[in-house]
Amino acid sequence: MTLPFPSRRAPAFADVPDEKWNDWRWQLSHRLNSLEDIEKVIPLTESERKALGSSGLFRVDVTPYFISLIDPDDPDDPVRKQIIPTDREMAAFTAMMEDSLAEDRHSPVPGLVHRYPDRVLMLVTTQCASYCRYCTRARIVGDPAATFKRDEFDMQIDYLKRTPQVRDVLLSGGDPLVLAPKVLEELLTRLREIPHIEIVRIGSRVPVFMPMRVTDELCETLQRFHPLWLNIHVNHPNEITAELAEAADKLTRVGIPLGNQSVLLAGVNDNVHIQRKLVQDLVRIRVRPYYLYQCDLVEGAGHFRTPVAKGIEIMEGLRGHTSGFAVPQYIVDAPGGGGKIPVAPNYLLTMSDHKVVLRNYEGYITTYEEPTDYTPAMAAKYKGLKRPEPGQEGLTALLDGEKMFIKSEGFDEIHDRHGIQHRLKDESKWKPLGIGPGEEQEKE
Ligand code: SF4
Repeated sequence: MTLPFPSRRAPAFADVPDEKWNDWRWQLSHRLNSLEDIEKVIPLTESERKALGSSGLFRVDVTPYFISLIDPDDPDDPVRKQIIPTDREMAAFTAMMEDSLAEDRHSPVPGLVHRYPDRVLMLVTTQCASYCRYCTRARIVGDPAATFKRDEFDMQIDYLKRTPQVRDVLLSGGDPLVLAPKVLEELLTRLREIPHIEIVRIGSRVPVFMPMRVTDELCETLQRFHPLWLNIHVNHPNEITAELAEAADKLTRVGIPLGNQSVLLAGVNDNVHIQRKLVQDLVRIRVRPYYLYQCDLVEGAGHFRTPVAKGIEIMEGLRGHTSGFAVPQYIVDAPGGGGKIPVAPNYLLTMSDHKVVLRNYEGYITTYEEPTDYTPAMAAKYKGLKRPEPGQEGLTALLDGEKMFIKSEGFDEIHDRHGIQHRLKDESKWKPLGIGPGEEQEKE
């Protein structure tokens, strides 16, 4: 089936032979980054000129392919806003941070972020094919001097070898697909030599900025490292072109499941109709919408932020209104390093003993009668129970009966009131019967 996505090339590149245009190395080496170069392709606004003429802003670079997707006559073009800086980047805002997700604090070795129990984020480069104005990692991304070196890769691999609870490694950066092919292949080979690494994921915007990088050769290489998953990053339907569709087709044909992570951006995609078109177009090219992120509290990105209510409104307009697998999860990545927090409209209205009251996407209200004869003991048993690391069980530990409460730091000291140990203070009073690992779990 022929897909109806356009292929565009700005008039400024009309004379470039197809052979060069379709060569990713040509695209990389002809990126635009100066006011003069960019102005040859799109007329700039005063605000853009000011930003491009000042120093100290996050790096600017854009491939000829991606800048061609901009409508030069529209100063509010959604692709333009993502990659051409404006003077609004210079405005500070409350809660702005350099490393809002506290990734560096969660790095046991440089470039490896171990935030969750069984998976890690491995930053393998600081370079990208083009640079997004709202980049969460603007603190290191774009700076060639900050990129990771061989001895740091060695430290990352060494940490992974001695950390058996890690079963999932996400390669990111920067963009792993701008690495020299040999370096990428070597990294994947070294990861695959670690027996407990079950899956490898790559987060890349290269198929969007430079789809010609997805060559048969690259697909051939990647498929040798299965199970391998790949998430791309598309924010607006205008980024879905014939070239991206072809790249996605090649990747899916070699068995790589594709997902999409987008960021909710004011003036770019903060509209339910745009988001619905985006997710529907993505599934047409066999890319499953995975996450819709709330914009992080990152320096330079204040003007892209929306209230969280906008995200909820968008999710309300997706769930039920289009195919379930086209609906991403809306995520607030917790400032300070708390990890991803899913946020959604509320569909459970209330509940009583054995009855829940729910509403659907149309506002239809219904009840679900729950069983009266179900007991926890009837739940399926799972042999080989694996527990997360202590401290990472969260509310699951309460539901599992591992714990009866979670206390904030210093809770006991505050409520002790600095009193003395006396005859009425017997610790056993607060140790409930039946809490703690069961017999089956103790054996492990
Ligand atoms: S592609 Fe990703 S890492 Fe690179 S600038 Fe954009 S958001 Fe940042």
